[in-house]
Amino acid sequence: MEGRGMLLKFKTQNRRESVPFLQPVEELPVYDLIVAGLGTAGVYAALTAAKQGLRVLGIEKLNCCGGTGTAGDVHGYYFGTPGGIYEELDEKVREMESDGYMPVVGLNPEAKKYVCEQALIDSKVEIHYESRVTGVLMEENTVCGIQWIENGEEKTALAKITLDCTGESGICDTIGCRMERGRAFDGQVQPYSVVQPEIVNGLVEFYHYLDCGYMDALDAGQYAKACVDAACLLHYNLEDYRTRRVLGISILLGLREGRRIVGEETVELQDYLEDRMTDHPAFYAYSNLDNHGRDLAFESEVLQDWLVASSLWGINISVPVPLGCCIPKGYEGILAAGRNISIGHDIASCVRQRRDMQKCGEAVGCAAALAIRKGISVREVPYEELKKQLLATGCLKKTDDSGIWDIEEGRWHRTAWLNEAGDIYQGLKSNRPGIAIWSAKRMGKCVEHKLEEWLSDSDRNVARNSALALGILGNRKALPALRCMAEERDSYVPKTSRKYNQLRGLSAVYLLGRLRDGEAVGILEKIMEHPEDNCGQEYQYDSFIRSQKEYGFQFFTHAVMALSRIAAAHPELSGEITGKIQEAMKGPFFESLLSDTSEDAIYISCVARNMRELIK
Ligand SMILES: Cc1cc2nc3c(=O)[nH]c(=O)nc-3n(C[C@H](O)[C@H](O)[C@H](O)COP(=O)(O)OP(=O)(O)OC[C@H]3O[C@@H](n4cnc5c(N)ncnc54)[C@H](O)[C@@H]3O)c2cc1C
Repeated sequence: MEGRGMLLKFKTQNRRESVPFLQPVEELPVYDLIVAGLGTAGVYAALTAAKQGLRVLGIEKLNCCGGTGTAGDVHGYYFGTPGGIYEELDEKVREMESDGYMPVVGLNPEAKKYVCEQALIDSKVEIHYESRVTGVLMEENTVCGIQWIENGEEKTALAKITLDCTGESGICDTIGCRMERGRAFDGQVQPYSVVQPEIVNGLVEFYHYLDCGYMDALDAGQYAKACVDAACLLHYNLEDYRTRRVLGISILLGLREGRRIVGEETVELQDYLEDRMTDHPAFYAYSNLDNHGRDLAFESEVLQDWLVASSLWGINISVPVPLGCCIPKGYEGILAAGRNISIGHDIASCVRQRRDMQKCGEAVGCAAALAIRKGISVREVPYEELKKQLLATGCLKKTDDSGIWDIEEGRWHRTAWLNEAGDIYQGLKSNRPGIAIWSAKRMGKCVEHKLEEWLSDSDRNVARNSALALGILGNRKALPALRCMAEERDSYVPKTSRKYNQLRGLSAVYLLGRLRDGEAVGILEKIMEHPEDNCGQEYQYDSFIRSQKEYGFQFFTHAVMALSRIAAAHPELSGEITGKIQEAMKGPFFESLLSDTSEDAIYISCVARNMRELIK
C-alpha cells in the first residue's frame, strides 16, 4: 500500500515543496516517538519517553548528544532552576570528572556527552548520529514521520509523534507552521557569540563568549562568513596569556535565539509583567532578561521600560510556561522543545537557559508519552496527570511560582513589588530605584499624583526618578524634567542591577521618544549630531559602556530612535527629522562606527551596518 495519501514536505533553496509520498508504508520502520535533535532539550525528551517504555528514535546531525551544551561548549549553568531528570545525569558527570576528566567550570562537556548517550542507550533509544532531517511526512495537518540523510542514504520512518528539538524549528518550518523570528522593529535576534575555551589560572573554562552581533543562522552565506570571521579574530592572543590562554574556538557558533514556532499558547513579557500567566505550567523558566543587547534602542517599549528606564536587567523573573507553547498551532503529531518554543522575543532572553531547556525537554517527552499511551492528541492530555508526573521528578515543584528575585550583598532573595506610596518614595530616593520605578508603573493611577508632586521634591533623585516612573506611565508632566536630564546627559547611574544599569540621561532620551515629545526635537538632534559630548566628564565606564565610542553609540542610537518615534507621531516634523537623521548617518561619528574593525567594536559596527540598511 502506498503512503495513504501522505505528502512528503521538504525545503529546497528556502522554498517549501510538497510531493506525494509513494513508498509503501508497510516497509517503513514505525516508532512511537521520533526526536529530531538530541541537544539540550532533545536528550531529556527522548529519555523521558523511552523510560516509559516507548519506542524512541533519536536523529542528531552532530556525532554526539547535548547540542549547544556540549558540542557548543556552553556547559556552565546560568540560572534556570534545579529539578527533573537532568540532575541525576549531572551527578554522574560530576563523578566522572573526579575520575580523570578534565576539571572545568560547569560540567565537562565530553563527560556529559558520554553520560547522556549512555543513558539513552540504556533506555533503548535508537540513536542515529550524523543524520540530518531533510523531510517530513504528513497526512493533512498531521505529522506522520520524517526523512533524513544518513551516510549518504535517504531514510524514512513513521512515528505517532515527532518532536522538533532542532533549536531552529527546522521541522515545524518545513511543514508550514507559522514562525516568528527576532524583535518587531527589524527582526533581529539576540546577538550570537563566538565561544572560546580558555585556561584561566590552570582551570579550563569553556565560558568566554564574544558577542559578535546579528546573524541569520539559516542563511548559509551569513553563517559561513560568521565562522570565518570568528576564526580570524585576534582576540585569541590575550595579553595576560600567562594566567589566561585561549585553547581554540567552539565548533558551533553560539546562537541564543532563532526561529520560534507560533504555538497554541504564547508567553509574552508584557503578559508576565501584567500578571497574566498560565495556571497550567509544564515547567518554569528562571533568569534575568539576559539578552546581551547593546542595541537596546531598537527593542520594544515594554523591554526598554524594563531595561532602559528602570535598569532592571539584573532582576530575575520566574516564568510559568504551558505545554501549549510547545504545540505548533493547528498541527497534530508534532511538538517542539527547546529555545524554539512559542515565546515572544522580549522574554526569550529569559526562557532559554540550559537547566530550563532540559526541563522543557522532559515536560514535552512526558506529555508525548501520555498522549501516545492513551491514544489521544497531545492537546487532550489531562493536565493533572502531566503535572503529577512532573512533580514526581521535580521538573515541576510545588514551590514554583512566578515571583521576582533580587541580589543584595551577594545573596539572592525573593522580593516583591511595592504597593505603598511611602515605600515608593524611599525607593526612588535610594541608589537602587528600579524596583520603585516599576512598582509605580504597576500601581498606576493610585500613585501618579504623588509622582507628579515629587517632580519638585528637593531630593534630586526623587524628582528625577519620579520623572522616569511618570515617563513609563505615559504621563506628559514628566517632560520638562526629562528634557532637562537629556540635555545635560544626566550622568547618574543607578545601582539597581549587578550590571547593565543605564545612564539616567539615556533613560530620559528614550522616554522623550516614548512620549513622542515634539518639543524635544532640538535637544535630541543635538545629541544625535554630537553623541560623544559630555562623555567622561563625570561618567565612569562600566561593563555596559566601556569607551567613549560606546557612550556615543548609546546616545546616538537612542536619539535616532526617539526622533523616529516623534516623526511618526508628528507628520509636520517628519520631513525635518528625516533629513537630520540622514545627515547624521553620513556624519563622522556614524562613519567611525561603520569603519571600526577592532574586535571591541565588532558588535556595534554590525548594528551600525544594520541601521544603514534600515535607513536605506
Ligand atoms: C553563546 C551562548 C551562551 C550561553 N550561555 C548559557 C549559560 O551560561 N548558561 C545556560 O544555562 N544557558 C546558556 N545559553 C543558553 C543555552 O545554551 C541554550 O538556550 C540551550 O542550550 C538551547 O537548547 P536547545 O535544545 O534548544 O538547542 P541545542 O542544544 O542547540 O540542540 C539542538 C540540537 O538539534 C540538532 N539539529 C539541528 N538541526 C538538525 C537537523 N536538521 N537534523 C538533526 N539534528 C539537528 C543540533 O545539532 C543540536 O544538537 C547560552 C547560549 C549561547 C548561544
